[in-house]
Amino acid sequence: MRKLINTAKNATEIKVSVKHMEGSSRYKSEDYRWESWKAFWSEYTNNKIPQQNYFCPSCNEYKDDIVGEHVIYNDKMYITPICSSCNSRAVKDIKFRNTPFEVAFNKLCQFNPDELKKRHG
Ligand SMILES: [Zn+2]
Repeated sequence: MRKLINTAKNATEIKVSVKHMEGSSRYKSEDYRWESWKAFWSEYTNNKIPQQNYFCPSCNEYKDDIVGEHVIYNDKMYITPICSSCNSRAVKDIKFRNTPFEVAFNKLCQFNPDELKKRHG
């Protein structure tokens, strides 16, 4: 049993390649009654809201200013915490936006706007 649990745990820590999502600014957390996307992420993943010294998977540095970013993995939308400078760079810099980065699968929270609207809108 323990072996099985460990296998499952390792599976969620596998890194996957994601891309910054284009045009995600149309999804405003307050429209879905969330104070921020990182608060949403925290609730659904059971992790603390990332604040200081969080490892940004996009620039691979420890940063203090963290936001919940929309990313694409396997053609689906997810939210994952990254630093605010990577987040704003992804809006302006197409080349940067299209450069995939690796993030642990258990740091991804699926984002389904239609379903969320039904639940909280
Ligand atoms: Zn960053």
